[in-house]
Amino acid sequence: MKAAVFHGPRDIRFEDVPRPVLNEGEALMRIRACGICGSDLHTYREGLFLQLGLPLEQGRILGHEFSGEIVEVCGEMPDVQVGGRYTTVSVGGNAEFLRITPQIASRMIPIPDHLSFEEAATTEPLATSLHAVELADPKDDQVVVVMGAGIIGLGVLQCIRARSSARVIVVDLSERRLQLARELGAHLTINASEEDAVARLKALHGDSAISLLDTAESGIDTVFDCAGATARFQGTTVLEQAISLVRQNGKVVVVAVFERKIELDVNAVVRKGVQLLGSWAWTPADFVQSMALISSGKIDRKPLITHRFALEEASQAYETQMQANEAVKVVLTP
Ligand SMILES: [Zn+2]
Repeated sequence: MKAAVFHGPRDIRFEDVPRPVLNEGEALMRIRACGICGSDLHTYREGLFLQLGLPLEQGRILGHEFSGEIVEVCGEMPDVQVGGRYTTVSVGGNAEFLRITPQIASRMIPIPDHLSFEEAATTEPLATSLHAVELADPKDDQVVVVMGAGIIGLGVLQCIRARSSARVIVVDLSERRLQLARELGAHLTINASEEDAVARLKALHGDSAISLLDTAESGIDTVFDCAGATARFQGTTVLEQAISLVRQNGKVVVVAVFERKIELDVNAVVRKGVQLLGSWAWTPADFVQSMALISSGKIDRKPLITHRFALEEASQAYETQMQANEAVKVVLTP
Protein backbone atom coordinates (compact mmCIF):
# COMPACT_ATOMS: atom_id res chain seq x y z
CA MET A 1 0.00 0.00 0.00
CA LYS A 2 0.97 3.63 -0.26
CA ALA A 3 1.88 5.68 2.80
CA ALA A 4 3.50 8.98 3.72
CA VAL A 5 6.50 7.95 5.80
CA PHE A 6 8.30 10.24 8.23
CA HIS A 7 12.07 9.69 8.10
CA GLY A 8 13.26 12.72 10.07
CA PRO A 9 12.62 16.45 10.46
CA ARG A 10 11.20 17.96 7.25
CA ASP A 11 11.53 14.58 5.53
CA ILE A 12 8.25 12.86 4.63
CA ARG A 13 8.22 10.51 1.64
CA PHE A 14 5.39 8.94 -0.34
CA GLU A 15 6.35 5.28 -0.40
CA ASP A 16 5.22 1.69 -0.81
CA VAL A 17 5.02 -0.09 2.53
CA PRO A 18 3.66 -3.56 3.40
CA ARG A 19 -0.12 -3.68 3.63
CA PRO A 20 -1.21 -4.68 7.18
CA VAL A 21 -1.81 -8.40 7.70
CA LEU A 22 -4.88 -9.14 9.81
CA ASN A 23 -5.02 -11.53 12.72
CA GLU A 24 -8.20 -13.19 13.93
CA GLY A 25 -10.51 -10.56 15.44
CA GLU A 26 -9.04 -7.63 13.51
CA ALA A 27 -10.31 -5.40 10.73
CA LEU A 28 -8.83 -3.34 7.92
CA MET A 29 -9.76 0.31 7.57
CA ARG A 30 -9.43 2.15 4.27
CA ILE A 31 -8.41 5.63 5.45
CA ARG A 32 -10.46 8.37 3.75
CA ALA A 33 -9.35 11.52 5.59
CA CYS A 34 -6.58 12.32 8.03
CA GLY A 35 -5.96 15.74 9.52
CA ILE A 36 -2.48 17.03 10.29
CA CYS A 37 -2.32 17.78 14.01
CA GLY A 38 -0.22 20.35 15.85
CA SER A 39 1.58 17.47 17.51
CA ASP A 40 2.34 15.95 14.08
CA LEU A 41 3.95 19.30 13.26
CA HIS A 42 6.17 19.09 16.35
CA THR A 43 7.28 15.71 15.01
CA TYR A 44 7.68 16.96 11.46
CA ARG A 45 9.63 20.06 12.48
CA GLU A 46 11.71 18.88 15.44
CA GLY A 47 11.40 15.09 15.62
CA LEU A 48 9.42 15.31 18.90
CA PHE A 49 6.54 13.04 20.03
CA LEU A 50 7.66 10.11 17.91
CA GLN A 51 5.26 7.85 19.81
CA LEU A 52 2.43 9.48 17.83
CA GLY A 53 3.67 7.66 14.75
CA LEU A 54 3.26 4.01 13.77
CA PRO A 55 6.79 2.57 13.62
CA LEU A 56 7.94 0.79 10.46
CA GLU A 57 11.25 -0.93 9.83
CA GLN A 58 12.36 2.36 8.30
CA GLY A 59 10.56 5.47 9.53
CA ARG A 60 7.09 6.05 10.94
CA ILE A 61 3.60 6.72 9.65
CA LEU A 62 2.14 9.79 11.37
CA GLY A 63 -1.51 10.80 11.61
CA HIS A 64 -4.00 10.17 14.41
CA GLU A 65 -6.97 12.35 13.35
CA PHE A 66 -8.56 10.08 10.79
CA SER A 67 -11.71 8.46 9.54
CA GLY A 68 -12.38 5.73 7.03
CA GLU A 69 -14.39 2.68 6.10
CA ILE A 70 -13.96 -0.94 7.06
CA VAL A 71 -13.11 -3.04 4.01
CA GLU A 72 -12.27 -6.37 5.62
CA VAL A 73 -12.92 -8.18 8.87
CA CYS A 74 -11.01 -11.29 9.94
CA GLY A 75 -13.09 -13.57 12.16
CA GLU A 76 -15.48 -12.19 14.75
CA MET A 77 -15.59 -8.44 15.32
CA PRO A 78 -18.82 -7.37 17.01
CA ASP A 79 -18.00 -3.62 17.08
CA VAL A 80 -17.46 -3.09 13.35
CA GLN A 81 -19.15 -3.93 10.07
CA VAL A 82 -17.67 -4.20 6.60
CA GLY A 83 -18.73 -1.07 4.72
CA GLY A 84 -19.20 0.88 7.96
CA ARG A 85 -17.80 4.41 8.23
CA TYR A 86 -15.98 5.21 11.47
CA THR A 87 -13.60 7.50 13.23
CA THR A 88 -11.45 6.21 16.05
CA VAL A 89 -8.26 6.75 17.97
CA SER A 90 -4.99 5.24 16.84
CA VAL A 91 -1.84 6.17 14.97
CA GLY A 92 -0.72 5.62 11.40
CA GLY A 93 -3.45 7.48 9.51
CA ASN A 94 -1.21 8.86 6.76
CA ALA A 95 -1.63 5.67 4.77
CA GLU A 96 -4.11 3.88 2.55
CA PHE A 97 -4.95 1.21 5.12
CA LEU A 98 -4.79 0.71 8.87
CA ARG A 99 -5.08 -2.43 10.97
CA ILE A 100 -7.90 -2.16 13.51
CA THR A 101 -7.13 -4.26 16.57
CA PRO A 102 -9.85 -5.21 19.10
CA GLN A 103 -8.53 -2.48 21.40
CA ILE A 104 -8.99 0.18 18.69
CA ALA A 105 -12.31 -1.35 17.63
CA SER A 106 -13.73 -0.80 21.11
CA ARG A 107 -13.29 2.95 20.56
CA MET A 108 -14.85 3.09 17.09
CA ILE A 109 -17.45 5.79 16.61
CA PRO A 110 -19.81 5.40 13.63
CA ILE A 111 -20.02 8.42 11.32
CA PRO A 112 -23.61 9.56 10.66
CA ASP A 113 -24.53 9.54 6.94
CA HIS A 114 -24.83 13.32 6.71
CA LEU A 115 -21.22 13.91 7.83
CA SER A 116 -18.24 13.71 5.49
CA PHE A 117 -15.09 11.75 6.30
CA GLU A 118 -13.26 15.09 6.59
CA GLU A 119 -15.65 16.49 9.19
CA ALA A 120 -15.50 13.22 11.11
CA ALA A 121 -11.69 13.40 11.13
CA THR A 122 -11.93 16.64 13.14
CA THR A 123 -13.68 14.87 16.03
CA GLU A 124 -10.39 14.10 17.80
CA PRO A 125 -9.09 17.68 17.95
CA LEU A 126 -12.58 18.88 18.96
CA ALA A 127 -12.49 16.40 21.85
CA THR A 128 -9.19 17.96 22.94
CA SER A 129 -10.82 21.41 22.90
CA LEU A 130 -13.90 20.13 24.70
CA HIS A 131 -11.81 18.55 27.45
CA ALA A 132 -10.12 21.91 28.12
CA VAL A 133 -13.45 23.76 28.16
CA GLU A 134 -14.96 21.26 30.59
CA LEU A 135 -12.01 21.85 32.94
CA ALA A 136 -12.59 25.62 32.78
CA ASP A 137 -16.37 25.25 33.05
CA PRO A 138 -17.11 28.81 31.86
CA LYS A 139 -20.26 30.47 33.19
CA ASP A 140 -22.66 32.64 31.18
CA ASP A 141 -21.58 35.97 32.60
CA GLN A 142 -17.84 35.31 32.42
CA VAL A 143 -15.12 36.69 30.17
CA VAL A 144 -12.83 34.18 28.51
CA VAL A 145 -9.71 34.84 26.44
CA VAL A 146 -8.47 32.26 23.94
CA MET A 147 -4.83 32.79 22.99
CA GLY A 148 -4.06 31.03 19.73
CA ALA A 149 -6.64 30.41 17.00
CA GLY A 150 -5.45 27.17 15.49
CA ILE A 151 -7.80 24.21 15.33
CA ILE A 152 -7.62 23.69 19.11
CA GLY A 153 -8.21 27.36 19.98
CA LEU A 154 -11.05 27.65 17.47
CA GLY A 155 -12.50 24.41 18.84
CA VAL A 156 -12.32 25.89 22.36
CA LEU A 157 -14.25 28.89 21.05
CA GLN A 158 -16.83 26.59 19.42
CA CYS A 159 -17.29 24.53 22.59
CA ILE A 160 -17.71 27.61 24.79
CA ARG A 161 -20.24 29.09 22.37
CA ALA A 162 -22.12 25.77 22.22
CA ARG A 163 -22.52 25.51 25.99
CA SER A 164 -22.64 29.04 27.42
CA SER A 165 -23.07 32.71 26.63
CA ALA A 166 -19.70 33.68 28.11
CA ARG A 167 -17.95 36.53 26.30
CA VAL A 168 -15.08 35.12 24.23
CA ILE A 169 -12.09 37.13 23.04
CA VAL A 170 -9.67 35.45 20.63
CA VAL A 171 -6.07 36.54 20.15
CA ASP A 172 -3.85 35.40 17.27
CA LEU A 173 -1.25 36.69 14.82
CA SER A 174 -3.12 35.62 11.69
CA GLU A 175 -5.91 37.76 10.25
CA ARG A 176 -7.32 34.76 8.39
CA ARG A 177 -7.66 32.77 11.62
CA LEU A 178 -9.19 35.76 13.42
CA GLN A 179 -11.68 36.19 10.59
CA LEU A 180 -12.68 32.56 11.13
CA ALA A 181 -12.93 33.17 14.88
CA ARG A 182 -15.39 36.01 14.23
CA GLU A 183 -17.44 33.82 11.89
CA LEU A 184 -17.55 31.13 14.58
CA GLY A 185 -18.90 33.54 17.18
CA ALA A 186 -15.97 35.31 18.88
CA HIS A 187 -17.24 38.54 20.46
CA LEU A 188 -13.92 40.29 19.88
CA THR A 189 -10.67 39.40 18.15
CA ILE A 190 -7.26 40.98 18.68
CA ASN A 191 -4.43 40.69 16.18
CA ALA A 192 -1.27 40.51 18.29
CA SER A 193 0.90 41.23 15.24
CA GLU A 194 -0.72 44.65 14.96
CA GLU A 195 -1.19 45.71 18.56
CA ASP A 196 -0.14 44.85 22.10
CA ALA A 197 -2.83 42.34 22.97
CA VAL A 198 -2.04 42.33 26.69
CA ALA A 199 -2.25 46.13 26.92
CA ARG A 200 -5.55 46.14 25.02
CA LEU A 201 -7.05 43.44 27.22
CA LYS A 202 -5.94 45.22 30.39
CA ALA A 203 -7.44 48.46 29.10
CA LEU A 204 -10.71 46.66 28.41
CA HIS A 205 -10.99 44.45 31.44
CA GLY A 206 -8.77 45.94 34.13
CA ASP A 207 -5.35 45.02 35.39
CA SER A 208 -4.97 42.72 38.34
CA ALA A 209 -1.39 43.70 39.11
CA ILE A 210 0.10 41.95 42.09
CA SER A 211 0.10 44.27 45.07
CA LEU A 212 -1.22 43.89 48.55
CA LEU A 213 -2.88 47.30 48.33
CA ASP A 214 -4.09 47.05 44.77
CA THR A 215 -7.81 46.50 44.62
CA ALA A 216 -8.05 46.82 40.85
CA GLU A 217 -9.45 43.58 39.50
CA SER A 218 -9.10 42.07 36.09
CA GLY A 219 -12.45 40.93 34.76
CA ILE A 220 -10.96 38.07 32.78
CA ASP A 221 -12.11 34.86 34.39
CA THR A 222 -10.29 32.30 32.26
CA VAL A 223 -7.46 32.36 29.74
CA PHE A 224 -6.74 29.39 27.46
CA ASP A 225 -3.18 28.97 26.25
CA CYS A 226 -3.64 27.31 22.86
CA ALA A 227 -0.31 28.60 21.57
CA GLY A 228 2.52 27.17 23.72
CA ALA A 229 6.08 27.87 22.64
CA THR A 230 8.13 26.51 19.76
CA ALA A 231 11.76 25.48 20.20
CA ARG A 232 12.90 28.68 18.53
CA PHE A 233 10.48 31.10 20.20
CA GLN A 234 11.98 34.02 22.11
CA GLY A 235 10.21 36.62 24.23
CA THR A 236 7.27 36.63 26.59
CA THR A 237 5.34 33.38 26.27
CA VAL A 238 1.58 33.29 25.96
CA LEU A 239 1.50 31.45 29.29
CA GLU A 240 3.19 34.39 31.05
CA GLN A 241 0.75 36.74 29.35
CA ALA A 242 -2.16 34.56 30.42
CA ILE A 243 -1.07 34.59 34.06
CA SER A 244 -0.68 38.36 34.00
CA LEU A 245 -4.13 38.81 32.40
CA VAL A 246 -6.30 36.53 34.47
CA ARG A 247 -8.18 37.82 37.52
CA GLN A 248 -7.35 36.87 41.10
CA ASN A 249 -8.23 33.18 41.55
CA GLY A 250 -9.03 32.90 37.84
CA LYS A 251 -8.20 29.92 35.68
CA VAL A 252 -5.43 29.48 33.13
CA VAL A 253 -5.90 26.34 31.05
CA VAL A 254 -2.86 25.16 29.10
CA VAL A 255 -3.89 23.08 26.11
CA ALA A 256 -0.80 23.77 24.01
CA VAL A 257 2.36 21.72 24.18
CA PHE A 258 5.78 23.30 24.59
CA GLU A 259 8.77 22.29 22.50
CA ARG A 260 11.10 23.44 25.27
CA LYS A 261 11.17 24.47 28.92
CA ILE A 262 10.20 28.07 29.61
CA GLU A 263 10.88 30.60 32.34
CA LEU A 264 7.92 31.44 34.51
CA ASP A 265 7.40 33.83 37.44
CA VAL A 266 5.82 31.28 39.75
CA ASN A 267 5.26 33.97 42.38
CA ALA A 268 2.71 35.51 40.04
CA VAL A 269 0.79 32.22 40.05
CA VAL A 270 1.03 31.92 43.83
CA ARG A 271 0.18 35.49 44.77
CA LYS A 272 -2.77 35.70 42.43
CA GLY A 273 -4.03 32.28 43.39
CA VAL A 274 -4.19 31.34 39.73
CA GLN A 275 -5.76 27.96 39.05
CA LEU A 276 -3.25 26.67 36.54
CA LEU A 277 -4.74 23.66 34.74
CA GLY A 278 -3.05 21.42 32.23
CA SER A 279 -5.36 19.81 29.69
CA TRP A 280 -4.10 16.80 27.80
CA ALA A 281 -6.14 15.09 25.10
CA TRP A 282 -9.61 13.84 26.12
CA THR A 283 -11.59 11.07 27.75
CA PRO A 284 -13.59 8.53 25.70
CA ALA A 285 -16.73 10.40 26.83
CA ASP A 286 -15.32 13.69 25.40
CA PHE A 287 -14.77 11.91 22.09
CA VAL A 288 -18.36 10.65 21.94
CA GLN A 289 -19.71 14.06 22.96
CA SER A 290 -17.63 15.80 20.29
CA MET A 291 -19.11 13.61 17.59
CA ALA A 292 -22.57 14.40 18.98
CA LEU A 293 -21.86 18.16 18.84
CA ILE A 294 -20.78 17.90 15.20
CA SER A 295 -23.53 15.48 14.23
CA SER A 296 -26.30 17.60 15.76
CA GLY A 297 -25.04 20.71 13.93
CA LYS A 298 -24.33 22.57 17.18
CA ILE A 299 -20.73 22.80 16.01
CA ASP A 300 -19.79 23.16 12.34
CA ARG A 301 -16.26 21.99 11.59
CA LYS A 302 -16.39 22.53 7.81
CA PRO A 303 -15.05 26.11 7.90
CA LEU A 304 -11.93 24.93 9.72
CA ILE A 305 -10.82 22.62 6.92
CA THR A 306 -8.75 25.00 4.83
CA HIS A 307 -6.67 22.68 2.63
CA ARG A 308 -6.86 19.19 1.14
CA PHE A 309 -4.04 17.14 -0.34
CA ALA A 310 -3.71 13.68 -1.83
CA LEU A 311 -1.42 11.32 0.05
CA GLU A 312 1.35 11.66 -2.58
CA GLU A 313 1.43 15.38 -1.76
CA ALA A 314 1.98 14.72 1.97
CA SER A 315 5.24 16.63 2.08
CA GLN A 316 3.53 19.71 0.64
CA ALA A 317 0.62 19.18 3.03
CA TYR A 318 2.89 19.32 6.08
CA GLU A 319 4.67 22.40 4.74
CA THR A 320 1.27 24.03 4.22
CA GLN A 321 0.11 23.17 7.75
CA MET A 322 3.23 24.97 9.03
CA GLN A 323 2.00 28.21 7.41
CA ALA A 324 0.05 29.38 10.44
CA ASN A 325 -1.06 32.51 8.58
CA GLU A 326 -2.93 30.54 5.96
CA ALA A 327 -3.78 27.07 7.19
CA VAL A 328 -6.10 26.02 9.98
CA LYS A 329 -6.64 22.33 9.22
CA VAL A 330 -4.91 20.55 6.38
CA VAL A 331 -6.47 17.19 5.56
CA LEU A 332 -4.86 14.35 3.65
CA THR A 333 -7.27 12.29 1.57
CA PRO A 334 -5.54 8.94 1.01
ZN1 LIG B 1 -4.06 15.59 17.56
